[in-house]
Amino acid sequence: MKITEIHVYAHDLPVVGGAYRMAMTEVSSLPTTLVKLVSDTGHVGWGETCPVGATYAEMHVGGARAALQAMGQGLIGCGVAPVVLHQRMDSLLNGHNYAKAAIDIAAHDLLGKALGVSVATLLGGALTTLVPSYYSTIVGDPDETARIAAQKAGEGYPRLQIKVGGRAVAQDVETVRKVWERVRGTGVRLAVDGNRSLTTRDALTLSRDCPEIPFILEQPCNTVEELARIRQQVSHGIYMDETGTSLNTVITAAGTGLVDGFGMKVTRIGGLHPMRAFRDICAARSLPHTCDDSWGGDIIAAACTHIGATVQPKLMEGAWIAQSYIDGHYDSRNGVKIEGGHIRLPEGPGLGVVPDDGMFGAPVASFG
Ligand SMILES: [Mg+2]
Repeated sequence: MKITEIHVYAHDLPVVGGAYRMAMTEVSSLPTTLVKLVSDTGHVGWGETCPVGATYAEMHVGGARAALQAMGQGLIGCGVAPVVLHQRMDSLLNGHNYAKAAIDIAAHDLLGKALGVSVATLLGGALTTLVPSYYSTIVGDPDETARIAAQKAGEGYPRLQIKVGGRAVAQDVETVRKVWERVRGTGVRLAVDGNRSLTTRDALTLSRDCPEIPFILEQPCNTVEELARIRQQVSHGIYMDETGTSLNTVITAAGTGLVDGFGMKVTRIGGLHPMRAFRDICAARSLPHTCDDSWGGDIIAAACTHIGATVQPKLMEGAWIAQSYIDGHYDSRNGVKIEGGHIRLPEGPGLGVVPDDGMFGAPVASFG
């Protein structure tokens, strides 16, 4: 089965309910990029990549589209099997995992449809049809954040992520303490996410001022070296997110015991094929992790849910999807939704989500 056509679409996802705010990023509308693959057997697959602004990670929308432009024609005639496809993509362009991920996701969707199986089955098999999600607060007022945290715990989210950073650490400490006052005893797990923004000094303060609160510190500082510096000085677990940019960095972080788990983004690591290897590396060291992405619509959400369903439940830290911040769905019947803090695995072959005809308009680039 070979790729005969590639179409790239641009689409804007407006953020509903006000801007989404992290330590170093604030966004109110996200341009996403969709990829449609067509095979010589007439099957179609969809992929997506949607960086959350230009400063969250080493990715931006213009880079995704330029990289797809650079690879597009060279992928015509290539097989859709993931090993073959990644080999060809790497021969055409070094790096740019987040653009390659859109092709990778589309290929998994197409293969699943051609074989009549779900993407989760292609990835080894679903262990559940109900994938846990987690709710992420924005960097906000301590009382308001605590109120929202209590509400989301009540809705059934098994895990909450409290965003911190970009302000005085005393406010972050106050926020974490107020959240804990409200959710203590509910059983909800807590992650405190600095999104790279804390100095090692502030990360140490945050941990030492909340010794009895059982949170994990997610990517508090900007570099692997800073994580290593605080590692032996805090009693809280540390997860790596943004600096886990490849399987190589993951192997080192897992193998040296630098971290206790990961936040992992499907597009950052290059798609579902490398995500599968990441999942298995984490399983070998019993390291919990998320399976999600920084933003995107139903295609990204479905991809995260399918890989998430294949993770051992005790290691699954959840799939965050942007659905509750976005108006509408690509697939008006099978759109991916969070209900009671969980996401139902889409049914049907491939991703189980098919964008409504023509909703993305004319392609911005086509190859074939
Ligand atoms: Mg994170």
